[in-house]
Amino acid sequence: MDLKSLIRDVPDFPKEGILFRDMTPLLQSPEAMSYVSKNFIQNVDLSQIDYFAGIESRGFILAAHLASTHNKGFLPIRKAGKLPPPTKRISYQLEYGSAEIELPIGQGRIMIVDDVLATGGTLQAAIDLSFLAGYKVQEVAVLVNLTFLNQMKFNNKEVFSLVQY
Ligand code: IMP
Repeated sequence: MDLKSLIRDVPDFPKEGILFRDMTPLLQSPEAMSYVSKNFIQNVDLSQIDYFAGIESRGFILAAHLASTHNKGFLPIRKAGKLPPPTKRISYQLEYGSAEIELPIGQGRIMIVDDVLATGGTLQAAIDLSFLAGYKVQEVAVLVNLTFLNQMKFNNKEVFSLVQY
């Protein structure tokens, strides 16, 4: 399936010079979402996964969809300050400034999911935070990898993605 045709390019958003990849049309297609949920886990042993963990906010949509399709739990990796305690929090660097994400303390084997991998800062922070909060990260995957911005690996393998630019 041609997923790229369902990802809209938006120049100069949210800032001048940035080409934003907008997956809203893909979310609006039941056929595409069904394709995504099947193909996201093509290399994954689902018996080793308890929760799909989504990174706020578009990662929530994908992780919740995967959790419901594959009969697993959902775990929210949230921007700091939104979750009730007990949680763990981590700060990480963005291109300009820094950000903080938070996760309920817990346990279980997880697959971390996000919409777009750009520099890799967010996904790496989510991996580090998950271990800190008590979870075992089995897999990570993104819908779109902007490969020219990162060389990110997980367990010595390239991060799995369905679309690459
Ligand atoms: P990174 O930390 O630089 O890898 O940025 C990844 C985070 O920024 C993800 O959580 C994405 O949701 C968001 N992001 C970065 N670029 C884009 C884009 O082009 N479209 C949608 N989200 C993006």
